[in-house]
Amino acid sequence: MIITRTKKELKETLKNLSKKPGKLALIPTMGNLHDGHLSLIKLAKLKSTKTISTIFVNPLQFAKNEDFSDYPRTHELDIEKLEQEQCDVLFMPINKDEVFPDTGKIKNIDSGMLGKDLCGKIRPGHFNGVLTVVNRIFELINPDIAVFGAKDYQQQILIRKMVKSLYSNLELLTAPIIRSQSGLALSSRNNYLSKDELLLASNLFKSLQRSVESYNNKISIDQIINDAQEFLKSNNLFPDYFELRDSQLKKIANNSFIGKRVFLSSVTINKTRLIDNIEF
Ligand code: AMP
Repeated sequence: MIITRTKKELKETLKNLSKKPGKLALIPTMGNLHDGHLSLIKLAKLKSTKTISTIFVNPLQFAKNEDFSDYPRTHELDIEKLEQEQCDVLFMPINKDEVFPDTGKIKNIDSGMLGKDLCGKIRPGHFNGVLTVVNRIFELINPDIAVFGAKDYQQQILIRKMVKSLYSNLELLTAPIIRSQSGLALSSRNNYLSKDELLLASNLFKSLQRSVESYNNKISIDQIINDAQEFLKSNNLFPDYFELRDSQLKKIANNSFIGKRVFLSSVTINKTRLIDNIEF
């Protein structure tokens, strides 16, 4: 795997890579790679001949009170894992100046109303930061394919909207959520939890599964959401939201909705925020 740490090295590497035929697939990450991330690389390799992953903890998507400086950084292990997956190139910028323009003039992308909903309500400005950096990475790499995980459901929908208006030739792939045996969705933030908290955290997925069952048994949506919130709280998981939406994240009012639906939730356990969802 070729490791590039500057914009200049990246440019040269991409120039050489462009001589190889086939599609280039991009897998953007913040590092601390787990099997969820690696499943994205596997999917990318199935759909392309060249793969490039990025590891960049993007300061724009963290608020002042959030975990930017504590976010786990495990570069050596990450490189080993990417090499095992036979990823062709890694772009792991030495600092943010290798991502954003020298002029300091960042092209800010506005995530609109949806960016202020759900996770955006709890993390103001988060999705503007995500879209701004993803757009910049697309500008730098110009991939044919980009792969994101369904775990970050709202993020993936917002990126799809941005791609529709700015990158008509870019194909987006969404990879399914990878979970631990307990059902807990893999996440770098699981590292913040103790053994006991990890056990409690697996109840987030249980609450989503139970809600799908209740929906199919025609229990009213208000009742389902109320039950889920009580269940979460009884397990020390404090819900920021628990909602039923359609696949474009519009609200669903009753059980007669036809089409793909998704239960989504964000909970806090001892200062750590976890998100999960089930599409059905
Ligand atoms: P992150 O490093 O957390 O920014 O995640 C990078 C990419 O990996 C995003 O597209 C995430 O949606 C995806 N991802 C993270 N966790 C999982 C998981 N458990 N299963 C599938 N994809 C995931």
